[in-house]
Amino acid sequence: RAKELGRSNYQFFTCEMSERTQQRVELETRLRGAAAAGQLRLVYQPKVSLDDGRIIGCEALLRWHHPELGLVPPGHFIPIAEESGLIVAIGDWVLRAACAQARAWMDAGLPPICVAVNVSALQFLQQDVVAWVTRILEEVGIPPGWLELELTESLIAQDIEKVTIAIDQLKGLGVKLSIDDFGIGYSSLSYLKRFRVDTLKIDQSFVRNMLVEAEDSTIVRAVISLAHNLNFRVIAEGVETEQHCHFLRAHGCDEIQGYYFSRPVTAPEFEAMHRQGKRLSA
Ligand code: C2E
Ligand code: MG
Ligand code: MG
Ligand code: MG
Repeated sequence: RAKELGRSNYQFFTCEMSERTQQRVELETRLRGAAAAGQLRLVYQPKVSLDDGRIIGCEALLRWHHPELGLVPPGHFIPIAEESGLIVAIGDWVLRAACAQARAWMDAGLPPICVAVNVSALQFLQQDVVAWVTRILEEVGIPPGWLELELTESLIAQDIEKVTIAIDQLKGLGVKLSIDDFGIGYSSLSYLKRFRVDTLKIDQSFVRNMLVEAEDSTIVRAVISLAHNLNFRVIAEGVETEQHCHFLRAHGCDEIQGYYFSRPVTAPEFEAMHRQGKRLSA
């Protein structure tokens, strides 16, 4: 493409490219020190049951507060963390921090909930994931049922054999598992019959348009019935309105997560919400 544009444009193109590369390298350097510098935080977004409207858990979402750059969105730094391999160390920090928070909630007498953590493919494949999770659960001292790992289809596609074994072992520990962003992974559905995960999480891109696009509506309903027929629970993410909520309840979705109930909030805010018994209105 650059060649077609001629010499001057080509130079412009490479110049712009290297600028972007340089920005990436800078961001990567800053990200490398972020955990040690105390710039990483977790926020928690409630997951709510559509049966009784109660909070059943939350998803831990990573936030990077850089003193000069401000709040860097995960969409900007997670891909860099993955490409550079930094995600393994960052993911370790995330799992520890989320489990420590769960422990603090447990000690504070909060009713049991499940804290979900996003795990990237690299973290899952580059290390003994079962040993890693076991060690952290023991160190922090929480029951495995308090922890859920959200995996993506892209992970599963990488090494089905290895991932199947790890999933079985994690299930054996008592950890909950879910497939995040379900439906956008371009992967074959055949893995679903071998994976003993608990929950499918319908990707928010389908939820966003399900009331206006017939195709998205069809996909959402199909995923709900697919999940139930395979004995999985199903949660919809990106639920922003009461109408979304009604549609999902009418079609038998089990749980929701999204701005309609709550944005991701700090740990004390989540704790207060859970203590006060905040519920989804019927
Ligand atoms: P995800 O795991 O699919 O998380 C859901 C994303 O949707 C979050 O974005 C959340 O804030 C956002 N969201 C929740 N409800 C709504 C809603 O009603 N409407 C809209 N428009 N968005 C909603 P966030 O926090 O920016 O994270 C983006 C992605 O970054 C996550 O997608 C996940 O893939 C990745 N990520 C975040 N934290 C971590 C982490 O600790 N480790 C890894 N490996 N990835 C993470
Ligand atoms: Mg997730
Ligand atoms: Mg998701
Ligand atoms: Mg998503």
